[in-house]
Amino acid sequence: MGEVSVRFLGSGDAFGSGGRFQTCFYVQSGTTQMLVDCGASSLVAMRRFGVDPSLIDIVLISHLHGDHFGGIPFFVMDANYLTHRTRPLTIAGPPGLEARVYEAMEILYPDSSRMDLKFDIEFVELPQEAATSISRLVVTPYSVVHPSGAPSYALRISLEDKIFAYSGDTEWTDALIPVSRGADLFVCDCTSFEKGGGIHLDYQTLMDHRSKLECEKLMVTHMNEDMLHRIGGLDVEGADDGKVVIL
Ligand SMILES: [Zn+2]
Ligand SMILES: [Zn+2]
Repeated sequence: MGEVSVRFLGSGDAFGSGGRFQTCFYVQSGTTQMLVDCGASSLVAMRRFGVDPSLIDIVLISHLHGDHFGGIPFFVMDANYLTHRTRPLTIAGPPGLEARVYEAMEILYPDSSRMDLKFDIEFVELPQEAATSISRLVVTPYSVVHPSGAPSYALRISLEDKIFAYSGDTEWTDALIPVSRGADLFVCDCTSFEKGGGIHLDYQTLMDHRSKLECEKLMVTHMNEDMLHRIGGLDVEGADDGKVVIL
């Protein structure tokens, strides 16, 4: 089985804390090139880090907030008008994904949702706690606690013989236990340091539950300014834009 790499193109929160790009992970193997989340800034991040958007086959979306799916309209417009994409694109995520993507396109660029695309887009709306095969990967979403107008998911992705797991945005939920179990890499929301982060996880709560997360490697992401200042002195590795992890 081949190597799988995860490159953080965006490890930021919704607000650009630390100058970081919004959530976007570039997951690559010999057979698959995909994005996990595509925040509003992700096309910029791809250009910054030299990732060719036209090579991406699959975009997996954790939940329907702008800092996680808001880059899709720009990705699609770029594919149609600049990179002249011809290969099909699969966009997979929670129920309601297709309608929300077209609504976002229509608001940002009127009539863009009806543009004559030169490539096929297949939307896959993923049922929770069921394994869905997409090309060479298998994804199992778990519902988490984070209101987004649709189910919000943590994603457990099997590719080659590796498992990459991602919490999406969420407060603590026991769903993260099966999501992360046996994962080669589990990337977890850790927006704040102090408890009381509301719909996001904080470092102290995460550490309270750390022993339940039976993953090979844990990294935290989506950090606010306070968390970014503290991360170097904490007992967990932080994601960073441009950082690459080989699974
Ligand atoms: Zn977010
Ligand atoms: Zn969110």
